Amino acid sequence: MIDEMTSALTRIRIVLVETTHPGNIGAVARAMKTMGLSRLDLVAPKPPIDAETLARASGADDVLEHAGRHATLPEALVNCRLVIGASARLRTIDWPLLEPPEAAQRLLAEAAHGEVALVFGRESSGLSNVELARCQALVHIPTNPEFSSLNLAAAVQVLAYELRRAARAAHGEQLLDPPRDVATADEMESFHAHLAQALRVIQFGDPAQSHKLMRRLRRLFHRASPDRTEINILRGILTAAQRHHLPSASASDTTVLP
Ligand code: SAH
Repeated sequence: MIDEMTSALTRIRIVLVETTHPGNIGAVARAMKTMGLSRLDLVAPKPPIDAETLARASGADDVLEHAGRHATLPEALVNCRLVIGASARLRTIDWPLLEPPEAAQRLLAEAAHGEVALVFGRESSGLSNVELARCQALVHIPTNPEFSSLNLAAAVQVLAYELRRAARAAHGEQLLDPPRDVATADEMESFHAHLAQALRVIQFGDPAQSHKLMRRLRRLFHRASPDRTEINILRGILTAAQRHHLPSASASDTTVLP
């Protein structure tokens, strides 16, 4: 399952067109690797890869090493079944526009059958209309309409996360809490019996009302769903409280419950 997910993600190319800042290329590599993407394609990048690129890649050097280099966008898109362009602006051209989750789902669905690409523009001017027209659809990350342009690597991070989310959903992957050693029904019963006994010993509450009190306390502890260790701690506290009140306790109340 996980392998299928990994291989679908490796068929998604992140294509950067004429990136100007060396640091951004490194930050994109890092953003990609954190989300399990590995295929980076650079179209006529302006700077050579330098120390800043490596510093911002923060260990995603393998993504940089294997990055494809192309003179033109069409070269970077050879063999792609689906090409989606990321646009910072709305209504750049009249073209099908997708929300990030939708774009991620479409890319992933096609990646099951072959290569796909997600294209990002220049820091200064984005993608040209000719470049946008090479894409089957555009994706826009909804942002503040008055300040809509994300840093290139930040845009890659958001869409890479959407791709990972879509891949996880498709493969039923979910974060799970580690299994807890919850107290069983019988252990909870023994605890409630111990609690009732301790409350009598320390003379807490009105004995005539104790039924109501015990129901409330039961509800509280059911809600807390304690584990075995927690129940043992609580019972230790009850035993200590009982011991403290021993002189006033009746003989039956000092019997240690199971
Ligand atoms: N100043 C440029 C934007 C450059 S940001 C412009 O106005 O078009 C560099 C690239 O990051 C963009 O070309 C786009 O691919 C991506 N990007 C930035 N913000 C985005 C957003 N809100 N939605 C989708 N892509 C975005």
